[in-house]
Amino acid sequence: METKDCWKIELLGVRGSMAVTPKEFQEFGSDTLCVRMEAGGKVLFLDAGSGLMYGIAGAENHVLIGHPHLDHLIGLCKWKELADPDKKIRLYMADHEGQSCEKILHTLYGPPFWPVHLEEISKGLEYVSINGSFTIGDLTIETLEGNHPGGVTHFKITDGKRTLVYAVDCELTQEARDALEQFAKGCDLLICDGQLNDDDAASKRGWGHSTQGEGAALGAACGAKKTVLVHFDPSATDEQLDALERKINQKFPQCVFGRQGEIYHL
Ligand SMILES: [Zn+2]
Ligand SMILES: [Zn+2]
Repeated sequence: METKDCWKIELLGVRGSMAVTPKEFQEFGSDTLCVRMEAGGKVLFLDAGSGLMYGIAGAENHVLIGHPHLDHLIGLCKWKELADPDKKIRLYMADHEGQSCEKILHTLYGPPFWPVHLEEISKGLEYVSINGSFTIGDLTIETLEGNHPGGVTHFKITDGKRTLVYAVDCELTQEARDALEQFAKGCDLLICDGQLNDDDAASKRGWGHSTQGEGAALGAACGAKKTVLVHFDPSATDEQLDALERKINQKFPQCVFGRQGEIYHL
């Protein structure tokens, strides 16, 4: 565990939509979205994609889920930490289509979609339906509704000394970009959606994602000290992502593409 004065942020999965395994994808990694944080003596996970499988839990764990699309939930089914009776795990998500966090996850993880409910595996599991800001110990978590089919919650986490903004699955229309720019103003680290490249953006408008250029420009506009793009398309190979990153990085030096296994300290 890190000391209280330093946050450790680990990218456990940066892929969007679906995990990929061939060797041409291994530099950026196979697994779908999950970021692990040690902050203020707590362990937080941002999203529960397949990367959560490798997430080491602490005694108390807080899993913040932006929305219930499968690529952000699939890791829960094979997260062995759920079965540890000494570990408390809280799953946070806003209601979607009138259904609570508990109802959504109880439906997905249960017959006929899955053989066993999560709360049968984990004795210390709690579901929390979020609606606006909340706190976890010394951390304040603010939320912003993003532009994504079915809705998505973006998170701003701060302890008053440093701030991380996690905004994936967002299509940056003018309105959505203005709101996020305000929300993320002056943050230390912005983890942002970069699923699309310029060539396929036109045919994928309305799917709820941003181009790498849009994500990088948002980071520059809000004055983020560092911008890390994630949620890469499962068809994007390492070679393609490397080339795109070089191009983006020339124009936006504070912006990099995230790779599974990378660790940042704030
Ligand atoms: Zn997604
Ligand atoms: Zn989604």
